[in-house]
Amino acid sequence: MPGGVSSPVRAFKGVGGTPVFIRSGAGCRVSDIDGNSYIDYVASYGPMIVGHAHERVASALAGAIHRGWSYGAPTELETQLATEVIAAMPSIQMVRFVNSGTEATMSAIRLARAATGRDLVVKCIGCYHGHVDGLLVQAGSGALTLGSPSSPGIPAAIAASTVLVHYNDLAGTETLFGKYADRIACMIVEPVPGNMGVILPQAGYLKGLRKICDRQGAILIFDEVMSGFRVAYAGAQSLCDVRPDLTCLGKVIGGGLPVGAYGGRRELMQMISPSGKVYQAGTLSGNPLAMTGGLATLELLRKPGAYETLEKTSSDLAAGLARAAGVRIAINRAGSMLTPFFTDDRQQAVENHEQAVACDTQAYATFFHAMLQGGIFLPPSQFEAWFVGLAHSAEAIGQTITVAKTAFGAVAAKRAAGQ
Ligand SMILES: *Cc1c(COP(=O)(O)O)cnc(C)c1O
Repeated sequence: MPGGVSSPVRAFKGVGGTPVFIRSGAGCRVSDIDGNSYIDYVASYGPMIVGHAHERVASALAGAIHRGWSYGAPTELETQLATEVIAAMPSIQMVRFVNSGTEATMSAIRLARAATGRDLVVKCIGCYHGHVDGLLVQAGSGALTLGSPSSPGIPAAIAASTVLVHYNDLAGTETLFGKYADRIACMIVEPVPGNMGVILPQAGYLKGLRKICDRQGAILIFDEVMSGFRVAYAGAQSLCDVRPDLTCLGKVIGGGLPVGAYGGRRELMQMISPSGKVYQAGTLSGNPLAMTGGLATLELLRKPGAYETLEKTSSDLAAGLARAAGVRIAINRAGSMLTPFFTDDRQQAVENHEQAVACDTQAYATFFHAMLQGGIFLPPSQFEAWFVGLAHSAEAIGQTITVAKTAFGAVAAKRAAGQ
Protein backbone atom coordinates (compact mmCIF):
# COMPACT_ATOMS: atom_id res chain seq x y z
CA MET A 1 0.00 0.00 0.00
CA PRO A 2 1.58 3.33 -1.02
CA GLY A 3 2.66 5.04 2.19
CA GLY A 4 1.02 2.19 4.10
CA VAL A 5 -2.32 3.98 3.90
CA SER A 6 -5.54 4.17 1.90
CA SER A 7 -5.64 7.99 1.90
CA PRO A 8 -2.56 10.25 2.07
CA VAL A 9 -3.09 12.45 5.15
CA ARG A 10 -3.27 9.36 7.37
CA ALA A 11 0.46 8.73 6.84
CA PHE A 12 1.45 11.64 9.18
CA LYS A 13 3.55 13.36 6.48
CA GLY A 14 2.28 16.71 7.73
CA VAL A 15 3.67 16.15 11.22
CA GLY A 16 6.32 13.44 10.83
CA GLY A 17 6.49 10.13 12.67
CA THR A 18 4.55 6.92 12.24
CA PRO A 19 0.75 6.73 12.13
CA VAL A 20 -1.15 5.00 14.90
CA PHE A 21 -3.15 2.01 13.70
CA ILE A 22 -6.64 2.02 15.17
CA ARG A 23 -8.23 -1.16 16.48
CA SER A 24 -11.51 0.18 17.82
CA GLY A 25 -13.55 3.20 18.73
CA ALA A 26 -16.25 3.93 21.28
CA GLY A 27 -17.87 7.30 21.91
CA CYS A 28 -15.26 10.07 21.68
CA ARG A 29 -12.36 7.63 22.06
CA VAL A 30 -10.31 5.42 19.76
CA SER A 31 -7.81 2.71 20.77
CA ASP A 32 -4.74 1.71 18.79
CA ILE A 33 -3.27 -1.75 18.25
CA ASP A 34 -0.58 -1.02 20.85
CA GLY A 35 -3.19 -0.62 23.55
CA ASN A 36 -3.20 3.20 23.79
CA SER A 37 -6.47 5.10 24.10
CA TYR A 38 -7.06 8.60 22.72
CA ILE A 39 -9.74 11.27 22.79
CA ASP A 40 -10.48 11.56 19.08
CA TYR A 41 -10.88 14.82 17.12
CA VAL A 42 -10.26 13.25 13.70
CA ALA A 43 -13.69 11.59 13.72
CA SER A 44 -12.98 9.99 10.34
CA TYR A 45 -12.55 13.58 9.03
CA GLY A 46 -16.07 14.50 9.99
CA PRO A 47 -18.61 11.68 9.62
CA MET A 48 -18.49 10.40 13.22
CA ILE A 49 -20.49 13.31 14.64
CA VAL A 50 -22.47 11.14 17.10
CA GLY A 51 -19.34 9.29 18.25
CA HIS A 52 -17.86 5.91 17.42
CA ALA A 53 -19.96 2.74 17.56
CA HIS A 54 -23.03 4.61 18.79
CA GLU A 55 -25.52 2.06 20.12
CA ARG A 56 -28.44 3.31 17.97
CA VAL A 57 -26.43 3.36 14.76
CA ALA A 58 -24.81 0.01 15.54
CA SER A 59 -28.15 -1.70 16.17
CA ALA A 60 -29.67 -0.18 13.01
CA LEU A 61 -26.72 -1.50 10.99
CA ALA A 62 -26.85 -4.90 12.69
CA GLY A 63 -30.55 -5.12 11.88
CA ALA A 64 -29.95 -4.11 8.27
CA ILE A 65 -27.14 -6.57 7.64
CA HIS A 66 -29.38 -9.56 8.30
CA ARG A 67 -31.64 -8.41 5.48
CA GLY A 68 -28.84 -8.47 2.89
CA TRP A 69 -26.56 -5.63 1.83
CA SER A 70 -26.79 -4.89 -1.87
CA TYR A 71 -29.32 -5.63 -4.59
CA GLY A 72 -28.83 -3.39 -7.60
CA ALA A 73 -32.46 -2.40 -7.24
CA PRO A 74 -34.15 0.51 -5.48
CA THR A 75 -34.96 0.24 -1.77
CA GLU A 76 -37.18 2.26 0.57
CA LEU A 77 -34.08 3.25 2.55
CA GLU A 78 -32.96 5.50 -0.30
CA THR A 79 -36.37 7.15 -0.44
CA GLN A 80 -36.23 7.70 3.33
CA LEU A 81 -32.78 9.29 3.30
CA ALA A 82 -33.69 11.38 0.23
CA THR A 83 -36.79 12.59 2.09
CA GLU A 84 -34.68 13.65 5.08
CA VAL A 85 -32.14 15.49 2.91
CA ILE A 86 -34.87 17.31 0.97
CA ALA A 87 -36.72 18.21 4.18
CA ALA A 88 -33.51 19.61 5.68
CA MET A 89 -32.34 21.77 2.77
CA PRO A 90 -34.84 23.96 0.91
CA SER A 91 -32.41 24.35 -2.02
CA ILE A 92 -32.65 20.60 -2.69
CA GLN A 93 -35.76 19.37 -4.48
CA MET A 94 -34.22 16.21 -5.91
CA VAL A 95 -31.16 14.26 -4.85
CA ARG A 96 -28.94 11.50 -6.27
CA PHE A 97 -26.88 9.26 -3.99
CA VAL A 98 -23.30 8.30 -4.83
CA ASN A 99 -20.50 6.66 -2.84
CA SER A 100 -18.16 9.52 -1.95
CA GLY A 101 -17.81 13.27 -1.84
CA THR A 102 -15.52 13.08 -4.86
CA GLU A 103 -18.24 11.43 -6.92
CA ALA A 104 -20.70 14.09 -5.78
CA THR A 105 -18.57 17.05 -6.90
CA MET A 106 -17.53 15.34 -10.14
CA SER A 107 -21.16 14.68 -11.03
CA ALA A 108 -22.41 18.13 -9.99
CA ILE A 109 -19.86 19.74 -12.29
CA ARG A 110 -20.88 17.51 -15.19
CA LEU A 111 -24.47 18.56 -14.62
CA ALA A 112 -23.55 22.26 -14.42
CA ARG A 113 -21.68 22.01 -17.73
CA ALA A 114 -24.57 20.21 -19.38
CA ALA A 115 -27.10 22.73 -18.06
CA THR A 116 -25.16 25.80 -19.22
CA GLY A 117 -23.44 24.44 -22.32
CA ARG A 118 -20.23 26.02 -20.98
CA ASP A 119 -16.92 24.46 -19.89
CA LEU A 120 -15.08 26.57 -17.31
CA VAL A 121 -15.26 25.87 -13.58
CA VAL A 122 -14.36 28.51 -11.00
CA LYS A 123 -12.73 27.20 -7.83
CA CYS A 124 -11.18 28.87 -4.79
CA ILE A 125 -7.51 28.36 -3.99
CA GLY A 126 -7.24 26.09 -0.94
CA CYS A 127 -10.75 24.65 -1.19
CA TYR A 128 -10.78 20.87 -1.62
CA HIS A 129 -13.53 19.11 -3.52
CA GLY A 130 -12.18 15.56 -3.67
CA HIS A 131 -9.64 14.16 -6.11
CA VAL A 132 -11.52 14.94 -9.33
CA ASP A 133 -9.00 15.65 -12.14
CA GLY A 134 -10.33 19.11 -12.91
CA LEU A 135 -10.36 20.10 -9.24
CA LEU A 136 -6.78 19.09 -8.38
CA VAL A 137 -5.57 22.31 -9.85
CA GLN A 138 -3.34 25.11 -8.67
CA ALA A 139 -3.11 28.70 -9.78
CA GLY A 140 -1.33 29.10 -13.11
CA SER A 141 0.80 32.22 -13.19
CA GLY A 142 -1.25 33.73 -10.37
CA ALA A 143 -4.92 33.67 -9.59
CA LEU A 144 -7.48 34.67 -12.24
CA THR A 145 -5.66 32.64 -14.89
CA LEU A 146 -6.48 29.17 -16.13
CA GLY A 147 -5.18 26.56 -13.71
CA SER A 148 -2.30 24.12 -14.01
CA PRO A 149 -2.32 20.53 -12.65
CA SER A 150 -1.38 20.11 -8.98
CA SER A 151 -0.74 16.39 -9.51
CA PRO A 152 1.05 14.44 -12.23
CA GLY A 153 -1.38 12.48 -14.36
CA ILE A 154 -3.78 15.35 -14.95
CA PRO A 155 -3.75 16.63 -18.53
CA ALA A 156 -2.95 20.35 -18.81
CA ALA A 157 -6.04 20.69 -20.99
CA ILE A 158 -8.26 19.48 -18.14
CA ALA A 159 -6.58 21.74 -15.56
CA ALA A 160 -7.03 24.64 -17.95
CA SER A 161 -10.79 24.24 -17.72
CA THR A 162 -10.57 25.35 -14.07
CA VAL A 163 -10.05 28.99 -13.10
CA LEU A 164 -8.88 29.95 -9.62
CA VAL A 165 -9.74 32.81 -7.29
CA HIS A 166 -8.97 33.55 -3.66
CA TYR A 167 -11.61 32.61 -1.09
CA ASN A 168 -13.30 35.64 0.50
CA ASP A 169 -12.27 37.75 -2.51
CA LEU A 170 -15.51 39.05 -3.97
CA ALA A 171 -13.83 41.76 -6.03
CA GLY A 172 -11.45 39.20 -7.55
CA THR A 173 -14.39 36.95 -8.38
CA GLU A 174 -16.15 39.86 -10.13
CA THR A 175 -13.03 40.53 -12.18
CA LEU A 176 -12.72 36.88 -13.11
CA PHE A 177 -16.34 36.57 -14.22
CA GLY A 178 -15.80 39.74 -16.23
CA LYS A 179 -12.80 38.21 -17.95
CA TYR A 180 -14.30 34.81 -18.81
CA ALA A 181 -17.92 36.00 -18.90
CA ASP A 182 -19.99 33.54 -20.91
CA ARG A 183 -17.51 30.65 -20.71
CA ILE A 184 -18.13 29.90 -17.01
CA ALA A 185 -20.41 26.94 -16.29
CA CYS A 186 -20.23 27.08 -12.51
CA MET A 187 -18.49 28.20 -9.39
CA ILE A 188 -17.86 25.49 -6.79
CA VAL A 189 -17.04 26.56 -3.25
CA GLU A 190 -16.94 25.20 0.28
CA PRO A 191 -19.24 27.72 1.97
CA VAL A 192 -17.22 27.17 5.14
CA PRO A 193 -13.86 25.80 3.99
CA GLY A 194 -12.42 23.07 6.20
CA ASN A 195 -9.70 21.69 3.99
CA MET A 196 -7.09 24.44 4.48
CA GLY A 197 -7.98 24.42 8.15
CA VAL A 198 -11.27 26.10 8.98
CA ILE A 199 -11.78 29.48 7.29
CA LEU A 200 -14.86 31.60 7.89
CA PRO A 201 -16.77 33.38 5.11
CA GLN A 202 -16.73 37.16 5.51
CA ALA A 203 -20.07 38.91 5.86
CA GLY A 204 -21.76 39.17 2.46
CA TYR A 205 -19.24 36.96 0.64
CA LEU A 206 -21.53 34.00 -0.11
CA LYS A 207 -24.49 36.26 -0.93
CA GLY A 208 -22.16 38.13 -3.28
CA LEU A 209 -21.24 34.89 -5.07
CA ARG A 210 -24.96 34.13 -5.50
CA LYS A 211 -25.47 37.54 -7.14
CA ILE A 212 -22.51 37.17 -9.49
CA CYS A 213 -23.59 33.68 -10.61
CA ASP A 214 -27.18 34.86 -11.16
CA ARG A 215 -26.04 37.79 -13.24
CA GLN A 216 -23.71 35.66 -15.36
CA GLY A 217 -26.03 32.69 -15.78
CA ALA A 218 -23.58 30.40 -13.98
CA ILE A 219 -24.49 27.58 -11.60
CA LEU A 220 -23.49 28.07 -7.95
CA ILE A 221 -22.40 24.78 -6.34
CA PHE A 222 -21.97 24.63 -2.57
CA ASP A 223 -19.70 21.76 -1.62
CA GLU A 224 -21.15 20.91 1.79
CA VAL A 225 -19.55 17.47 1.95
CA MET A 226 -17.93 18.57 5.22
CA SER A 227 -20.22 21.36 6.43
CA GLY A 228 -23.59 19.72 5.64
CA PHE A 229 -25.32 18.42 8.82
CA ARG A 230 -22.18 19.59 10.65
CA VAL A 231 -22.10 23.38 11.11
CA ALA A 232 -25.92 23.19 11.28
CA TYR A 233 -28.38 20.42 10.40
CA ALA A 234 -29.31 22.28 7.23
CA GLY A 235 -25.69 23.07 6.44
CA ALA A 236 -23.77 26.30 5.98
CA GLN A 237 -26.39 27.45 3.44
CA SER A 238 -28.91 27.81 6.26
CA LEU A 239 -26.51 30.06 8.21
CA CYS A 240 -25.70 32.41 5.32
CA ASP A 241 -29.23 32.27 3.90
CA VAL A 242 -28.08 31.56 0.35
CA ARG A 243 -29.68 28.98 -1.94
CA PRO A 244 -27.09 27.33 -4.16
CA ASP A 245 -28.26 25.74 -7.40
CA LEU A 246 -26.57 22.47 -6.50
CA THR A 247 -25.30 21.10 -3.18
CA CYS A 248 -22.76 18.31 -2.68
CA LEU A 249 -23.02 16.18 0.43
CA GLY A 250 -21.05 13.33 2.00
CA LYS A 251 -19.37 12.56 5.33
CA VAL A 252 -22.14 13.04 7.98
CA ILE A 253 -24.97 11.87 5.71
CA GLY A 254 -23.35 8.43 5.71
CA GLY A 255 -22.57 8.44 9.43
CA GLY A 256 -19.20 6.83 8.66
CA LEU A 257 -20.31 4.56 5.82
CA PRO A 258 -19.43 5.42 2.22
CA VAL A 259 -22.05 7.90 0.98
CA GLY A 260 -22.10 11.03 -1.11
CA ALA A 261 -24.99 12.90 -2.66
CA TYR A 262 -25.73 15.83 -4.89
CA GLY A 263 -28.97 17.63 -5.25
CA GLY A 264 -30.66 20.86 -6.18
CA ARG A 265 -33.49 22.40 -8.15
CA ARG A 266 -35.84 19.96 -9.83
CA GLU A 267 -35.32 21.22 -13.39
CA LEU A 268 -31.56 20.82 -13.05
CA MET A 269 -31.64 17.42 -11.38
CA GLN A 270 -34.09 16.11 -13.97
CA MET A 271 -31.31 16.41 -16.52
CA ILE A 272 -29.63 13.43 -14.80
CA SER A 273 -30.05 10.01 -16.40
CA PRO A 274 -32.51 8.28 -16.67
CA SER A 275 -34.82 11.36 -16.43
CA GLY A 276 -32.43 13.27 -18.66
CA LYS A 277 -29.34 12.77 -20.77
CA VAL A 278 -26.52 13.52 -18.30
CA TYR A 279 -25.03 10.13 -17.49
CA GLN A 280 -24.07 9.20 -13.94
CA ALA A 281 -24.34 5.77 -12.31
CA GLY A 282 -23.01 3.54 -9.52
CA THR A 283 -23.15 -0.20 -8.78
CA LEU A 284 -23.25 0.33 -5.01
CA SER A 285 -24.91 3.77 -4.95
CA GLY A 286 -27.67 4.01 -2.35
CA ASN A 287 -26.33 0.89 -0.68
CA PRO A 288 -28.67 -0.29 2.11
CA LEU A 289 -25.98 -0.29 4.82
CA ALA A 290 -24.77 3.19 3.87
CA MET A 291 -28.35 4.53 3.80
CA THR A 292 -29.02 2.92 7.20
CA GLY A 293 -25.89 4.48 8.72
CA GLY A 294 -26.95 7.88 7.40
CA LEU A 295 -30.58 7.57 8.51
CA ALA A 296 -29.66 6.52 12.06
CA THR A 297 -27.08 9.32 12.36
CA LEU A 298 -29.45 12.02 11.08
CA GLU A 299 -32.15 10.78 13.45
CA LEU A 300 -29.82 11.36 16.40
CA LEU A 301 -28.92 14.81 15.06
CA ARG A 302 -32.62 15.78 14.83
CA LYS A 303 -33.08 15.27 18.59
CA PRO A 304 -33.79 18.60 20.27
CA GLY A 305 -30.65 20.25 21.59
CA ALA A 306 -28.14 18.28 19.50
CA TYR A 307 -26.62 21.33 17.80
CA GLU A 308 -26.81 23.40 21.00
CA THR A 309 -24.76 20.67 22.68
CA LEU A 310 -22.26 20.62 19.81
CA GLU A 311 -21.99 24.42 19.97
CA LYS A 312 -21.46 24.48 23.76
CA THR A 313 -18.87 21.69 23.73
CA SER A 314 -16.99 23.22 20.80
CA SER A 315 -16.98 26.75 22.20
CA ASP A 316 -15.76 25.40 25.56
CA LEU A 317 -12.93 23.63 23.74
CA ALA A 318 -12.01 26.73 21.74
CA ALA A 319 -12.10 28.96 24.82
CA GLY A 320 -10.02 26.45 26.79
CA LEU A 321 -7.41 26.24 24.03
CA ALA A 322 -7.20 30.03 23.85
CA ARG A 323 -6.65 30.20 27.62
CA ALA A 324 -4.09 27.37 27.59
CA ALA A 325 -2.03 28.75 24.70
CA GLY A 326 1.18 30.43 25.78
CA VAL A 327 2.01 30.99 22.11
CA ARG A 328 0.19 32.99 19.47
CA ILE A 329 -2.68 31.11 17.86
CA ALA A 330 -5.76 32.10 15.89
CA ILE A 331 -8.71 29.78 16.45
CA ASN A 332 -11.20 29.59 13.59
CA ARG A 333 -14.40 27.81 14.48
CA ALA A 334 -17.69 27.14 12.72
CA GLY A 335 -19.89 25.12 15.05
CA SER A 336 -18.19 21.81 15.74
CA MET A 337 -15.36 22.29 13.19
CA LEU A 338 -12.32 24.22 14.37
CA THR A 339 -8.67 24.88 13.64
CA PRO A 340 -6.14 26.50 15.93
CA PHE A 341 -3.65 28.09 13.52
CA PHE A 342 -0.12 28.66 14.81
CA THR A 343 0.19 32.14 13.38
CA ASP A 344 3.33 34.22 13.27
CA ASP A 345 3.75 37.59 14.98
CA ARG A 346 2.31 39.69 12.16
CA GLN A 347 -0.87 37.66 11.65
CA GLN A 348 -3.99 38.47 13.61
CA ALA A 349 -6.47 36.41 11.65
CA VAL A 350 -6.46 33.63 9.06
CA GLU A 351 -8.99 34.39 6.35
CA ASN A 352 -7.66 32.69 3.22
CA HIS A 353 -5.24 30.10 1.89
CA GLU A 354 -2.31 32.48 1.69
CA GLN A 355 -2.59 33.30 5.39
CA ALA A 356 -3.18 29.64 6.29
CA VAL A 357 -0.03 28.40 4.57
CA ALA A 358 2.00 31.17 6.23
CA CYS A 359 1.36 29.48 9.59
CA ASP A 360 4.03 27.62 11.54
CA THR A 361 3.53 23.97 10.55
CA GLN A 362 6.59 22.98 12.62
CA ALA A 363 4.84 24.31 15.71
CA TYR A 364 1.71 22.35 14.80
CA ALA A 365 3.80 19.18 14.42
CA THR A 366 5.35 19.66 17.87
CA PHE A 367 1.91 20.34 19.35
CA PHE A 368 0.38 17.34 17.57
CA HIS A 369 2.97 14.88 18.92
CA ALA A 370 2.77 16.23 22.47
CA MET A 371 -1.03 15.84 22.30
CA LEU A 372 -0.74 12.30 20.92
CA GLN A 373 1.67 11.46 23.74
CA GLY A 374 -0.90 12.81 26.17
CA GLY A 375 -3.73 10.70 24.72
CA ILE A 376 -5.34 13.19 22.33
CA PHE A 377 -5.68 12.24 18.65
CA LEU A 378 -5.70 15.31 16.40
CA PRO A 379 -5.69 15.55 12.60
CA PRO A 380 -2.05 15.10 11.52
CA SER A 381 -1.91 18.40 9.63
CA GLN A 382 -2.27 22.10 10.40
CA PHE A 383 -4.61 22.23 7.41
CA GLU A 384 -7.29 19.78 8.56
CA ALA A 385 -10.25 20.66 10.77
CA TRP A 386 -10.72 19.19 14.23
CA PHE A 387 -14.17 17.68 14.71
CA VAL A 388 -16.13 17.79 17.96
CA GLY A 389 -19.01 15.37 18.36
CA LEU A 390 -21.97 14.63 20.62
CA ALA A 391 -19.87 12.03 22.46
CA HIS A 392 -17.27 14.55 23.69
CA SER A 393 -18.07 14.98 27.39
CA ALA A 394 -17.15 18.00 29.51
CA GLU A 395 -14.58 15.74 31.14
CA ALA A 396 -13.01 14.87 27.75
CA ILE A 397 -12.80 18.57 26.88
CA GLY A 398 -11.24 19.32 30.27
CA GLN A 399 -8.66 16.60 29.77
CA THR A 400 -7.91 17.88 26.26
CA ILE A 401 -7.24 21.38 27.60
CA THR A 402 -5.00 20.08 30.38
CA VAL A 403 -2.88 18.15 27.88
CA ALA A 404 -2.92 21.15 25.50
CA LYS A 405 -1.26 23.33 28.20
CA THR A 406 1.70 20.97 28.20
CA ALA A 407 1.70 20.72 24.40
CA PHE A 408 1.70 24.52 23.97
CA GLY A 409 4.55 24.55 26.49
CA ALA A 410 6.50 22.15 24.27
CA VAL A 411 6.00 24.53 21.30
CA ALA A 412 7.19 27.53 23.37
CA ALA A 413 10.25 25.60 24.63
CA LYS A 414 11.24 24.55 21.10
CA ARG A 415 10.89 28.12 19.85
CA ALA A 416 12.96 29.44 22.77
CA ALA A 417 15.68 26.91 21.93
CA GLY A 418 15.62 28.23 18.36
CA GLN A 419 14.52 24.90 16.89
C1 LIG B 1 -14.00 15.24 2.15
C2 LIG B 1 -14.42 16.22 1.16
C3 LIG B 1 -14.62 15.89 -0.18
C4 LIG B 1 -14.29 14.52 -0.74
O1 LIG B 1 -15.06 13.53 -0.17
P1 LIG B 1 -14.55 12.00 -0.31
O2 LIG B 1 -15.67 11.22 0.30
O3 LIG B 1 -13.26 11.94 0.46
O4 LIG B 1 -14.35 11.73 -1.75
C5 LIG B 1 -15.11 16.84 -1.04
N1 LIG B 1 -15.38 18.08 -0.61
C6 LIG B 1 -15.20 18.45 0.67
C7 LIG B 1 -15.54 19.84 1.10
C8 LIG B 1 -14.69 17.54 1.59
O5 LIG B 1 -14.48 17.93 2.85
